[in-house]
Amino acid sequence: MHPARMIAAALPALLIASAAHAQLPVPNRDPRVRQALEHARAGEPQTIEDQIAICQIEAPPFKEQRRAEDFRRRLEALGLRNVRIDAEGNVIAERPGNPGEPVVVISGHLDTVFPEGTDVTVRREGTTLRAPGIGDDCRGLAVLLGVARALDQARVRTRGTIVFVGTVGEEGAGNLRGVRHLFSTELRDRVDYFISVDGTGLGLTKDAVGSHRYTVTYRGPGGHSYGDFGAPNPVHALGRAVAKVAEFQVPADPRVTFSVGVVEGGTSVNSIAMTASMQVDMRSVDAAALDALDARFQAAIRQALDEENARWSRGDRLVLEIDTIGIRPAGKQPADATIVRAATDAGRALGFDVPAIASSTDANIPISLGVPAVTIDGGGRGGGAHSLGEWFDTTDSHLGTQWALLFVLTLAGVR
Ligand SMILES: [Zn+2]
Repeated sequence: MHPARMIAAALPALLIASAAHAQLPVPNRDPRVRQALEHARAGEPQTIEDQIAICQIEAPPFKEQRRAEDFRRRLEALGLRNVRIDAEGNVIAERPGNPGEPVVVISGHLDTVFPEGTDVTVRREGTTLRAPGIGDDCRGLAVLLGVARALDQARVRTRGTIVFVGTVGEEGAGNLRGVRHLFSTELRDRVDYFISVDGTGLGLTKDAVGSHRYTVTYRGPGGHSYGDFGAPNPVHALGRAVAKVAEFQVPADPRVTFSVGVVEGGTSVNSIAMTASMQVDMRSVDAAALDALDARFQAAIRQALDEENARWSRGDRLVLEIDTIGIRPAGKQPADATIVRAATDAGRALGFDVPAIASSTDANIPISLGVPAVTIDGGGRGGGAHSLGEWFDTTDSHLGTQWALLFVLTLAGVR
């Protein structure tokens, strides 16, 4: 290839690389932005009222509809455009900017881990709110409303378009179904930056901990422990498999983890079981390392089957079934990635440092697709997430709303 053409061909990649590391100015000196920040602070009591009201509508896994309808009405009341619930159940609302400018999604998740019938009444003791889901993620949803309200009150106009989203299926068995749908269908190829606001504090998740989770079942005809002795035994096959998993050596960096979380099987002490199963969780921020562990795992559970079947000559052979509980893709972003810098710089402009961690959140999907994405905490302090004792302390929680606001404006740009 002609050298000039080679340079031309390489140019788009270079531009993309430098754009991904560009430092965007934090617009905290813009008079309208300062007004919006002041509205976010003064409006924090309303944001907390929203947080409480949202929390008191149950949203069990796969049953987020009532909370979604309510969230849709709240977004409509703030004058946002094209407010809708998509085919998967996500609530979406737009604050249009100029065409051709970045599209910035800011989202929170609608679902909780709690089953139907959980008491979600919020109890207030001084600055502390107590209820399941109050932080994770009623806080994120309320911050979205606080940001939209402050932008509206200060009449801030942005260059880019801001899309507010309440996602379904972030927790456990939901397997990120809401955010998957956004990136595969609803907002496919439209998103330049993705922010999830999830939980409490003032930290940042920049790396996506991926997870592979399976149920593995060994199955056979079963029989009498004495009369049918000499036939392969599903519990013994499972024991072989667990022993192999337990001996896996994994790197410390990148961190790779594995755990057999649940084992089940058998019916009585004098029976050869018909089934024995385990649930396994494997995690890493490094996609290749996680895939490598998965491959070893798949080999180990098959080897356990073969060994148990080879050990005995009587009866039918055992079979192996593998069911996927969930696959969440992994991914890492450099500390100087544009979106990571924008989050950190926005925090610093408000007077605090932002610690960065790796976690498993809605941002896993865009990060794995190469779309710049992070998850930020929603401010305040909290604890007991995923438990009935969950709590949220509202002290200085306006900083979370202000941070989300300034971060979004840094990415979208102010007109
Ligand atoms: Zn959450």
